[in-house]
Amino acid sequence: MGSALAKVGSPIRSWCTRCREMRDHTVTTLEEKQPRRVTCDTCQGTHLYRPQPPKSRAAAGRKAALQTTGWDDLMAVADLDHVRNYTMRLEYTAGDVINHKVFGLGVVVREVDPLKIQVSFQDGVKLLACNRDR
Ligand SMILES: [Zn+2]
Repeated sequence: MGSALAKVGSPIRSWCTRCREMRDHTVTTLEEKQPRRVTCDTCQGTHLYRPQPPKSRAAAGRKAALQTTGWDDLMAVADLDHVRNYTMRLEYTAGDVINHKVFGLGVVVREVDPLKIQVSFQDGVKLLACNRDR
């Protein structure tokens, strides 16, 4: 692996969420000496470091991934450049990526009703309140 020695600016092989291929990347940010975010040398997209390609079903695209509630598959195709911190006041739609202070990163799987969303987290699928501003 050799990733323990990664530095910001180091070249690294990662799955690219945009190209949907294994590509050469450059380490952009580190977390505990591990690559956290990387920039694709091909498309210049910045996303989380993924040493392995997602499962083949996820590679088919975000829409296909939304058929499942599997967190790994969803995160593999999630738009991590647009993560929003979760608050019950906001409105969300399927495919949105949120950052929950307890559960961490999650992907909105579906809108159950105007005030509830189903979100897939690493821990499992949770029902969260949304749109509670009025
Ligand atoms: Zn790319």
